[in-house]
Amino acid sequence: MSTPTTKLCVFCGSSSGSDPSFVNQAKKLGNALADKQWGLVYGGGSTGLMGAVANGCASKRGYVHGIIPEALISRERTEVKPEEHNIDNHNGLTPIPDSKEYGHTTLVKDMHTRKRLMGQEADAFVALPGGYGTLEELMEVVTWQQLSIHDKPIVIFNINGFFDSFLKFIQASIDSQFVSVKNGEIIKVANTVEEVIKAVEEYKLPEGRFNLKWDHNTGDNEFYDKI
Ligand code: AMP
Repeated sequence: MSTPTTKLCVFCGSSSGSDPSFVNQAKKLGNALADKQWGLVYGGGSTGLMGAVANGCASKRGYVHGIIPEALISRERTEVKPEEHNIDNHNGLTPIPDSKEYGHTTLVKDMHTRKRLMGQEADAFVALPGGYGTLEELMEVVTWQQLSIHDKPIVIFNINGFFDSFLKFIQASIDSQFVSVKNGEIIKVANTVEEVIKAVEEYKLPEGRFNLKWDHNTGDNEFYDKI
C-alpha cells in the first residue's frame, strides 16, 4: 500500500476502559481513517483501545503502523505467540509479521524510541481515553509544541466526557497563570469522530508558543530531534 499523505498518531489506552463507547468510538475512528485514506501511527498493541483503533483501520485496508518496544509485546500484543514467531522470551529480533488485523509493526528498543518514531512519522496527534501512558504521551507532544520543537495539530477525542476533569485542570492551570491563555489553545477538543477529523484539518497553531531555536541537525541528542 502506498504511504498516505496524512498520518494521525493516536495515543490511547492499552485497556478498554469501563464504557463500551470507548472501544466503539476508537474502532469508528480507525474506520474513518481508512475511509479518508489517512494513515494511523500508534503504539503497536492489540489490546484495549489501541487494538480497537488499529483493527478499525486495518480491517478496512487502511495504513496502520504500530511501533512497540520488544519488552511490551507480552503485555500489549497478546495475539502474538512467541513460539510461532521465533520471539524467544520477547528478546529476539524476529519482527512481528505484517498482520491483517493490526498492520505493520516496528519493534524498537525502548519507550523513548517508540515516541520519537511515532512523532516523526505523524502529521498530527489525537488522544483517546487512556491511563498514565496516554497522558504521558499526550503531555509530551503538548509541551514540545509549546517549546516549538514541532508544529503539529493536537486533538483530544473526548469520548463521553472522559477528559472533562482533565480539561478543567488545564483551565485551572490557566486561571492560576501557569499556562498562558494562548497556549491553552494548543489542545483542541473533539466530541465525535467527524469533529476529530475536522479539528485536525482546521487546526491553527496558537500564537503564544515559545519561539525557541532548536538545533535539530546535530544528531547528538536524538530525543529532541525535530519531529
Ligand atoms: P495506558 O494509557 O497507560 O494504557 O498506556 C497507553 C500506551 O502508552 C501503552 O502502549 C503504554 O505502553 C504507553 N506508554 C506508557 N508510558 C510510556 C512512555 N513513557 N513512553 C512511551 N509510551 C508509553
